[in-house]
Amino acid sequence: MTIKNYINGEFHNPIKNNWIDNYCPANGEVYGQLPNSDKTDVEKAYNAAKTAFPMWSQTSLEERSRILIKISELLEANLQRFAEAESKDNGKPISLAKAVDIPRAASNFRFFGNAITQFASESHESIGLKAINYTLRQPIGVVGCISPWNLPLYLFTWKIAPAIAAGNCVIAKPSEVTPMTAYLLGEICNEAGLPKGVLNIVHGLGTTTGQAIIAHEDIKAISFTGGTATGAHIAKVAAPMFKKLSLELGGKNPNIIFADCDYEDMLDTTVRSSFANQGQICLCGSRIFIEDAIYDRFKKDFVTKVKALKVGHPSEHDTNIGALVSKAHLEKVKDYIAIAKEEHAMVLCGGNEVTIKGYENGYYLEPTVIEVKNDECRVNQEEIFGPVVTIMPFKTEEAVLEMANKVKYGLSATLWTNDLKRTMSMSNQLQAGIVWVNTWMLRDLRTPFGGVKASGIGREGGFEALRFFTEAKNVCIKY
Ligand code: NDP
Repeated sequence: MTIKNYINGEFHNPIKNNWIDNYCPANGEVYGQLPNSDKTDVEKAYNAAKTAFPMWSQTSLEERSRILIKISELLEANLQRFAEAESKDNGKPISLAKAVDIPRAASNFRFFGNAITQFASESHESIGLKAINYTLRQPIGVVGCISPWNLPLYLFTWKIAPAIAAGNCVIAKPSEVTPMTAYLLGEICNEAGLPKGVLNIVHGLGTTTGQAIIAHEDIKAISFTGGTATGAHIAKVAAPMFKKLSLELGGKNPNIIFADCDYEDMLDTTVRSSFANQGQICLCGSRIFIEDAIYDRFKKDFVTKVKALKVGHPSEHDTNIGALVSKAHLEKVKDYIAIAKEEHAMVLCGGNEVTIKGYENGYYLEPTVIEVKNDECRVNQEEIFGPVVTIMPFKTEEAVLEMANKVKYGLSATLWTNDLKRTMSMSNQLQAGIVWVNTWMLRDLRTPFGGVKASGIGREGGFEALRFFTEAKNVCIKY
């Protein structure tokens, strides 16, 4: 399968005809190629977007909304095809792609197709001054959207949908590791009647294609999801040009379990929040803190459940843990398991590569639970982003709060308790952009989404995303 750039509504080879191999994580084989685009391709995409902008920014909200909702319907109609492509490209179980990733991508378009028709601005009458102020929310122009490999279409569309709903034209780059569903999206956009040049998808490496997008002087806003180091680099490049930035970065999220929680619900959800998508979700609760009183019981029950998870080929419907996204990522995660052992932590289960008959070169790893004695050890502080969690007991609310906040990240936190005062008090004090209480990853697309500290700046979701993708202009009229 040869993937092409989607520019001005058409599919193009990269100008310099350079290509990158695309690997299937389930068997480690090359199964296609994608463009290794450079700044000439980005410039071509920019010109298409710039040309389309005057027309698109003046297209009525009803028409924009109709097209976005049509894209959503077409994604739903092509669910099986997109889910198979996502699973093959990323290694995630097909059941997950079908139940979560692709439906969520469709929801992103439907949600922002509706939200844009409800997006209102303020007006203020300056009483006594005989003046009225109102706020225009104007599209920015050409914007860049860069997304990672873990939830490829889900996160790609989480940016694109609000950007185009708000009247911008987009240059988007999916991760070079998982380009497939972004490629297929181009066809869907054409079928839905999205005008040429409104969305342009340029494939390639972060350091060339991505770099050309962030360094382009006339791309006025960048919405980025990815690693913290890349986010810091983007901030440096963008700052002198005063680009608007939304950075959704890494996490090392605490999952705090009190003895008064609903135990069975907590246990099942904690298995999911630890290992869904092979632990490759920025929101996974990778540091589990358990109140002393139930620590031994939890340890035994959790390990039993984790050992029962089936590591298997992503296309098999009973697979719980598919393949990791790439060989390089598998090696990184394995290195962390070695570091844990060096730090005298105890691997309670997992820790080994898995060989699957017929797919011996795939990137499979057992789900791994590590008991740590010291919350400051590296596996408890650094983002591993794989099927690895740490567990550790705590005695008091104050002690666990201190440990939970003592990392550089601040994306999400999960709290399991039935105590209302504790819920309120801890939710206030946890350093995170999102706190889930007695649940995990329950998402309402109207809510603000994002992190604090090294987990990023800015918020996505709901009207926050539409605010990001527009400039506010105050108009003051004296009468
Ligand atoms: P990276 O930061 O490596 O890459 C993210 C995207 O940025 C990719 O498309 C990548 O391209 C591109 N990129 C890399 N270098 C540059 C550059 N110099 N200029 C512009 N673009 C560049 O992250 P990963 O893909 O490895 O994703 C995993 C990370 O994403 C984890 O840290 C995870 O926590 C975070 N994440 C955060 C989320 C959040 O909402 N906060 C959600 C999901 C993930 P390429 O892949 O082609 O190199």
